[in-house]
Amino acid sequence: VTDWQGKHVTVAGLGVSGIPAAKVLHGLGAHVTVVNDGDDERSRTQAADLEALGITVRLGDGDTLPPGTELVVTTPGWKPDKPLFAAAAEAGVEVWGDVELAWRLRGPDAAPWLAVTGTNGKTTTVRMLASILEAAGLRTAAVGNIGVSLLDAVLGDETYDVLAVELSSYQLHWSPSLRAHSAAVLNLAPDHLDWHGSMEAYAKDKGRIYEGNQVACVYNVADKATEDLVREADVEEGCRAIGFTLGTPRPSELGVVEGILVDRAFVEDRQKQAQELAEVADVNPPAPHNVANALAAAALARAFGVEPAAVRDGLRNFRPDAHRIEHVADVADVSYVDDSKATNPHAAQASLAAYESIVWIAGGLAKGASFDELVAASAPRLKGAVLIGKERHLVREALARHAPEVPVVDLDRTDTGAMSAAVEEAARLAAPGDTVLLAPACASMDMFVNYNKRGEAFADAVHALAADRA
Ligand code: ADP
Repeated sequence: VTDWQGKHVTVAGLGVSGIPAAKVLHGLGAHVTVVNDGDDERSRTQAADLEALGITVRLGDGDTLPPGTELVVTTPGWKPDKPLFAAAAEAGVEVWGDVELAWRLRGPDAAPWLAVTGTNGKTTTVRMLASILEAAGLRTAAVGNIGVSLLDAVLGDETYDVLAVELSSYQLHWSPSLRAHSAAVLNLAPDHLDWHGSMEAYAKDKGRIYEGNQVACVYNVADKATEDLVREADVEEGCRAIGFTLGTPRPSELGVVEGILVDRAFVEDRQKQAQELAEVADVNPPAPHNVANALAAAALARAFGVEPAAVRDGLRNFRPDAHRIEHVADVADVSYVDDSKATNPHAAQASLAAYESIVWIAGGLAKGASFDELVAASAPRLKGAVLIGKERHLVREALARHAPEVPVVDLDRTDTGAMSAAVEEAARLAAPGDTVLLAPACASMDMFVNYNKRGEAFADAVHALAADRA
């Protein structure tokens, strides 16, 4: 679409992606109607702002397609089985997400995209990648769910050489024409199945990221499902499949040899079989799952032609975001670690694997996931467990099945104050040398606004405990 003048576009949903999309489309001359499920105080204020610009807003009815709609631009979080989308399909109207919109609106000389998806590690990997690209002297930004919004990156005044783009499975679902320079799927574990409907549908949406790749499809050697997605993808001629592994790399892979990150995929020097990139110790923190993230970021950067020294410098400059395996404090020789961002079992399993003797704080909203594999794999390292949140019984049942010896405190609370009670119970179960680890394996919205607030509540409780003991 190049001519937006007078085009009838329906934007589905107010909120962080809907409002900017509506404004941009209106600015291009489109005839914009926003439809929204909610009709509360907040949406009325937002609606009034948009209406003042000349945008039509329909509150309390997100399911009816306005007559004459030629295109729907949706908030990625809206479920594909919503009646609005059935109506759009019926009318032969395309549905784009926010990412598709940004992709279509980018200019002719727009920066290529290096894209990252996966169940866990997306944000970390994209920020590592941006740090590497910066170290290489490239004008870049980490965009997507983090940092600069995609629409701003594509339409703003800033010029970029390349973008490091985080993409969720929801966004990929609604991005039919996106074509990345290179892309990585970090891992695939059950998550958001209530949204996608099935693991197959979830994997298929993640696999969209490889479609049309120009230079490299980066996959996780340890996670065969990611390699399968590469094989199923329709890519440009000459595009290569590049694996990353924590083991010794084969040709066309990046991996680890004696504490060194090594590249056997993009070796410039024909005399050499491998190119050294950085040391494991350059990765912050050097936990196994995070080294995997670093390898994926390095693979994408190398696919873009970045030198080995910039990979090393970029990794050294990188600092992890808050609530991702963040050490909060030591109290009575017990270490308290906040991995509130572990919002599904696969993520929690990675952080539980990084410690030896753990009192685990878990629970919240399970999003349809199972905890059996996580608990079975982690049982030998568990000293105790403290459970909070609405669906904590699912974690409790998995513990009973796979770790019957582990003492469990089941806090029958979902109020915000429950976190300090949980920390006190965990302190009681822990002995010197242990780690109390908040890795909930669940979403936080039953008790908190988001995982940030959950992590902050944990840190506050730990600091209160420290003050108490002092
Ligand atoms: P995302 O953006 O995909 O949610 P983050 O980088 O924010 O990922 O990390 C979320 C959590 O996932 C971390 O706190 C950690 O517990 C876990 N994690 C990070 N990287 C990996 C990985 N490669 N494999 C498994 N779990 C991971």
